[in-house]
Formats: sequence, structure tokens, C-alpha cells
Amino acid sequence: MRCSEARRRISRALDDELDSRDAAALAEHLAGCAECARFKADQARINAALAAMPIPEATEQDALRMAARVRGAVEAAPELARVSWVFRASALAAMLLLAAGVVFLSIQLRDARTQIAASAPGLPPATRTGTLN
Ligand SMILES: [Zn+2]
Repeated sequence: MRCSEARRRISRALDDELDSRDAAALAEHLAGCAECARFKADQARINAALAAMPIPEATEQDALRMAARVRGAVEAAPELARVSWVFRASALAAMLLLAAGVVFLSIQLRDARTQIAASAPGLPPATRTGTLN
């Protein structure tokens, strides 16, 4: 097995996605390749650090509050008052998409962390910190 293939498998192994045959082939490579073994140890450390890192969680209310702030800033800017309603509607739509994206990413990140935590038993569970303001 080449190192490039081994490294692809290392990521999958750490995500618990390798079947036993691929895992055995990877273990054989790691036994004879110090660089890939080190790479695997580094990846495992990174996963553990990510799993232990607190993440802010954006709620729907956070997103709406953020959207209201941006809308307020847009309406308060005199130079934007002359801009056509099409532009302002587009800006508002973009902002709402952004806010929805923040909520979506927050949920995705939480799910990913839950998976990482599940694949690395013994680590402290993910902790919640404050919300966006
Ligand atoms: Zn290698």
C-alpha cells in the first residue's frame, strides 16, 4: 500500500469506516511506516482536540437577532437609502441565507462533534458554551 492510500484510510479508520480487511492492510502498512504511524497519531490528537473544544451554538433566535441587526445597519446607512428596493431585497435575502447557514453549520458541527466523541471514547463530552449575541 502506498502512503497516500494509507493516509486516506487513516482518516476513515479514525471515523470507524474501514472494514476489517482494509483495516488489516492499513495496520500492516503502519507497522512498517513510521511516517504514516505518526500521521495517524497526529490525526487522532487533532480529532480529540476538536472533540474537546467547546463550540458556540447558534439558535434560531440568534439568527433572527443577527438578521435584524444587519437590517437595522442597512436601513441606518444614508447612502443605502438611495439604493433600489431590488438591491435591498437582495441584501436582505443574502443576510437571511447567511443566518440560516449559521444555524445549519452549528447543527452540522454539533453532529460532527457527537460522532467524533462517539468514535473516541474516554474523552470528555462536548460542552456547550454561550450563544452568539
Ligand atoms: Zn506510509
